[in-house]
Amino acid sequence: MGNWNESIEQLRRIIRDSNRIVAICGSDMVSASGYTDLESDEVFYDIELKYGASTSELYSSRCYNTRPEKFFEFYRNEVICEKQPSAGYYALAELERRGKIRSIITKDIHGIPQKAGCSRVLEYYGNIYHNECPKCRRQYSIDYVKQSDKVPRCETCNSVVRPKIVLLGESVPNHAMTEVVNAISEADILFLLGVTDPFYEIEKMTQYYSGDKMIYIRKTMMEPNERVNIFVNDEVDKVLPEAII
Ligand SMILES: [Zn+2]
Repeated sequence: MGNWNESIEQLRRIIRDSNRIVAICGSDMVSASGYTDLESDEVFYDIELKYGASTSELYSSRCYNTRPEKFFEFYRNEVICEKQPSAGYYALAELERRGKIRSIITKDIHGIPQKAGCSRVLEYYGNIYHNECPKCRRQYSIDYVKQSDKVPRCETCNSVVRPKIVLLGESVPNHAMTEVVNAISEADILFLLGVTDPFYEIEKMTQYYSGDKMIYIRKTMMEPNERVNIFVNDEVDKVLPEAII
């Protein structure tokens, strides 16, 4: 435990001296808040059985365009859901109240950091609460999508309303990527919190960080990486609330 306590003390010192923290929230933080990873092996067969297709087929612009009824059946049942943020998000919100946060970067689309009280959030995959008619740009609430019969249609022009999220097979919009790069390049501390996905493109974006406080917190071990200055091998929900005391 000596090492653990030393790491916490070290984090406290570093956090005390910083005011441009950028935190990247990974999928461990999302699952710690109770959300199911729809691309994980655990739910693969359930999804196949229930919809006759895989998550990657259903959660795609192709499905939205060619089989909107199927897309919205899956979207309403599996994607839209409300859970409570885990402790790590509340720690970030507290740091933000203290004026220490530059940006919180997340691939989550459920607005979890905002539910914990964070506002400096970059959601580069979008957000389920923003829905728009792709033709006339009229905005719709999540309730409109939830309550629609089969497919939500625009009341003005009858087009199929589109959740403003990046679907599988689509690229992240340029402006979202630019915001992420700007935030990372201006960070004094760069936290990678529960980031475990091997192909998570955000990890590549860390090349824009030029500081010497790149800090990984995650419960699974990682390959040695010379760019990582501190690695704390534990759950974000345990480490971060301690580190801000
Ligand atoms: Zn419209």
